[in-house]
Parts: sequence; structure tokens; C-alpha cells
Amino acid sequence: SKLFSANQNHQKIFSPPPPPQQQQQDSNPHAAFDTLDLDGHFSFQNTAHASRDFGNRFFFRPAAVLHPKSVSDIASTVKHVYEMGPLSGLTVAARGHGHSLQGQSQADGGIVVNMESLTRRPSQGHLRGGGGGRYVDVSGGELWIDVLKETLKQGLAPKSWTDYLHLTVGGTLSNGGISGQAFRHGPQINNVQQLEVVTGKGEVVTCSEKQNAELFFSVLGGLGQFGIITRARISLEAAPDMVRWIRVLYSDFSKFSTDQEHLISLDESFDYIEGFVIINRTGLLNNWRSSFHPKDPVQASQFVSDGKTLYCLEVAKYYKITALHLLQQIQGLLSKLHFITSTLFVSEVSYLGFLDRVHVAEMKLREQGLWEVPHPWLCLFIPGSKMDQFASQVFGSIVTDSSNGPILIYALNQSKWNNNIKRTSLVTPREDVIYHVSFLASAVPSSTGKDGLDYILARNQRILDFSLGAGIGLKQYLPHYTTQEDWKGHFGSKWEVFLKRKLTYDPLAVLAPGHRIFKRQY
Ligand code: FAD
Repeated sequence: SKLFSANQNHQKIFSPPPPPQQQQQDSNPHAAFDTLDLDGHFSFQNTAHASRDFGNRFFFRPAAVLHPKSVSDIASTVKHVYEMGPLSGLTVAARGHGHSLQGQSQADGGIVVNMESLTRRPSQGHLRGGGGGRYVDVSGGELWIDVLKETLKQGLAPKSWTDYLHLTVGGTLSNGGISGQAFRHGPQINNVQQLEVVTGKGEVVTCSEKQNAELFFSVLGGLGQFGIITRARISLEAAPDMVRWIRVLYSDFSKFSTDQEHLISLDESFDYIEGFVIINRTGLLNNWRSSFHPKDPVQASQFVSDGKTLYCLEVAKYYKITALHLLQQIQGLLSKLHFITSTLFVSEVSYLGFLDRVHVAEMKLREQGLWEVPHPWLCLFIPGSKMDQFASQVFGSIVTDSSNGPILIYALNQSKWNNNIKRTSLVTPREDVIYHVSFLASAVPSSTGKDGLDYILARNQRILDFSLGAGIGLKQYLPHYTTQEDWKGHFGSKWEVFLKRKLTYDPLAVLAPGHRIFKRQY
């Protein structure tokens, strides 16, 4: 089928969209949707917002933006597009908060569904107390920060997070959703009990591990290819009040990674484990993760790195204000680690403040005009057995003078995850211990130097080329490829299943065209 022939015609547009008043109107996109009876509405003119994303590098203009007020708005629109067949060629992209990096939530000449219009805030989330089955039902267009604020009112919270909470539930569940809790709880897709999904045929289906399980697992980590998530049932736990947030430094990568792997293997460990690389001291003080304000015993500003590359282990212990023995417990855990002893930085923050930490830095960057710049990010999963080799080449030779933004490194223990994660569409290396490594660079617009887009993209490519040549066996997280061969390589042994699922749930390849995996069928 043509669906599976390589989609070589993916068009890249590297310039920003014209302002709305200069945009040309399609001949008559209105007419095609006149018959639909909607609670919400279509917008045919103000589409510029839907043709950009956080990456600021890809700009595809849709024909229309749907602002749904009900699930049936989405279902009837997708069904209509599906049934229009050969005449339309239209595609539909769900847009969460538009924090994709390469146009994944855009639809070139198609329809973008503004999922944030669908939020059913906050009273319509159903909290159920008691037992292990506590959950909240939320709209796919809800921001995680709002889910947190709402559940905290009941003393509850989701278990697994992303570092940044101004992302939608549907957007992160389409990828995975990982942060420093994933070593224990698995990614966010491992903490979902049920979904309501609009498939590529416009059918509304409720699915879970027990009901329509194939669709449930397809959609989780499925890059929006199989359906639009309109509702998700998220597992909850009792929320702590406070967080003891700790950073320690290493100059030796193998000590750093040994300690991380030790901590993620323990049954009683920290509640959050991450880490990052400090190159030329960028990353410690002057970046968007700088919401950390150490209070004791050593001030971060007094530590002199001598330009060495350092590795920062970042851990946190959550607690109720009434918790006893917390300090002894933390002391016990720290005493087994091998960091530079004078580098113990401690901060005490509220749980909400801790989880929303990146937003603080976002506000600062926005003030300086440094948020809406190109973001050539590269996010990877590295097999644990290859991590030393990867680090030695990448931090020894490729990323040496500056990082242009944070570089996260943390270990995850897949053997502790729910076995069902293997049935989802998420792709990770097949080893129990894997590392998440993210190069979160910001480029200075129109710079041709080392802080410019071209330089950073070339550096990312060097990392990928080295890894391929050295047989590292990495997998991209938030994957981006330009040929179907590369997509096949990404999915590896999961490709056949991915293809079969696509044929079942979105046979005309209507959904999520921005990934350019499949070509719309007529
Ligand atoms: P969008 O960019 O709008 O959409 C992403 C993809 O999902 C698109 O293909 C879109 O079509 C599809 N989609 C959106 N909504 C739905 C839906 N309801 N149903 C089906 N498909 C849908 N990720 C992590 O895992 N951990 C992190 O710590 C983390 N931190 C981040 C920090 C920042 C500052 C940024 C910009 C991104 C971060 N990410 C992180 C990546 C983030 O999870 C993804 O970019 C995610 O897709 C963003 O969510 P969004 O709501 O903006 O989705």
C-alpha cells in the first residue's frame, strides 16, 4: 500500500509563517465543514499560532484550526475527513501545548485541533479516594500543572512527571513522559489506567489494559498516530508537603554513573533521581534549571570548577511535614556515594514549587526574550552498558567548550517498570538499565557562531554519527526522522506491530502528519 511507501516528499519550511493578515485563504475550506454541527468552532483565519512550536524551526500552515468544546466535535471532524476520501487529502493534528520541537503537532494544509479548548477544568475531574485505585479523570488537553493543582486540593498527586508541567496530558502520553521519578514508577504512560480516544476513523473508543487493550497500548507513546486522546485516567498517590532537594558534584563520570545506578537499584531510595553535565560552568548557575537556591552547607558560587567538565547528581526526598527520621535516612543514602565532599548543595522547597521548578526559569528567560528562540534539542536513550563509551567520546571530544543549554543525564531501571510498558509504542534500548541523555540547547537567532543553529545541529549530528559508528544502539526520545527507512530503524522489531496498528486505527493516515512517518492515503 502507498501508506507504507517511504514518505520522501516531506516538505520543510524553515521560515516563520506570514502574519495572519497576509495569509492566503484556501479556495473554500469553509464549505467542506458547513454540514458539521459543532459545540465549538473552526477558525480559518487565525491559524498562525498553530503553525509554530517550541522548536521554532518548522512552520506548517494549517487550513483550519478546530476549537472543540466536546469530544463529539473532534470525532465528527475526524470522521468527516476520513469519509471525504479522495477529494480532501486532509490531515488532522491534535495540538496540545505546542511544545514539540520539529512540527510534530502541525498539519500542513490540514486541520489542527486545539486540544486546550477541550479542558474540563477542574470540577469535572473525578477524584476517587481509598485503596490503591486512586485516580483522576482529565481531558487530553489539560496541562499537567492544572492536574497537579487540582489533585493537591485532595492531598493527592500523580506519581510520574515531566520536568516541566506546562505540557498537556495528551502531548506527553503520546511520547512517554519521563523525569526523575521514572526510575521507580516508569514513565507517565506507565501510570495511566484508562483512555478515551478518537481513532483515525472518527470512532470514540474507551480503552484500558482490559478493554480494547490493543488500542490502549498503541496510543501510549504512539506519537499521535492511532488516535486523539480526549480523556485519560491517571493513577494518584498521597502527595507529600515538602521536598529536600540535593545536588552533589563529581569530576569522574564513572563514579557519577555508578552512584546513580546504585541509587536506582535500591528499594528505599530517593524519590527523584536525575543529573546533568556542567561544561565550563554553564548548566550550574546560568540556565533554565536555575530555580535551585542552595542554602547550605556550601554556596554554589564559591565552588571553582577550573573549567573541568563536572557531573551533577540531583536527588530529592519527598516528605510530610510530620515525617520523622528523614534526615537520618538522607544521611544514610548520601554516605554511600562518592561525590566531591565539599559539594553538597541542599534546598528545601514545597512539593508544588519543586515540580513546577522549570516554569520559574521559563519566566526569567521570557523576560530576557530568550524563550522563543530556536531549540535544536536532541533527546536520547542510551543502553547502560554503552554509557561510559558514549560519555567519554561525547563529553571528551564533541561537547567540550559549551553546551548552549542544560544536558540531562539520568539512569532508569526498566526492570522495575510494569511489564506492560513493553506493549506500548514507546521504543527504548533493550537493557534493564538505560540512560536518558538530553541536550537541551537554545540557539541565538541568526548567529553563525558556536551559539547558532547550524553549529548546534552539526554537533547533534556528530553525536548521532559517532553513536552509529560505535554501535551504541541508542534510541531517540521525541524521535525525529526524515525517511521511512530511518523510522523503521527506530522502531526495529516493533515496526511491524506499529504498521499493523496504523492500518487498524488510522488506515488513511489522517492523524498526526507532522511526524512524517506515513503518507495520507486517498
Ligand atoms: P504537542 O507538542 O502539542 O504535541 C506533541 C505530539 O502529540 C504531536 O504529535 C501531537 O499531534 C500529539 N498530541 C498532542 N495532543 C494529543 C492528544 N490529546 N492525543 C493524541 N495526540 C496528541 N518530555 C518528557 O518526557 N520529560 C520532560 O521532562 C520534558 N520536559 C520538557 C520541557 C520543555 C520546556 C519542553 C518544551 C518539552 C519537554 N518535554 C519533556 C517534551 C514534551 O513531553 C513533548 O514535547 C510533548 O509533546 C509536549 O506536549 P504538548 O502538550 O506541548 O504536545
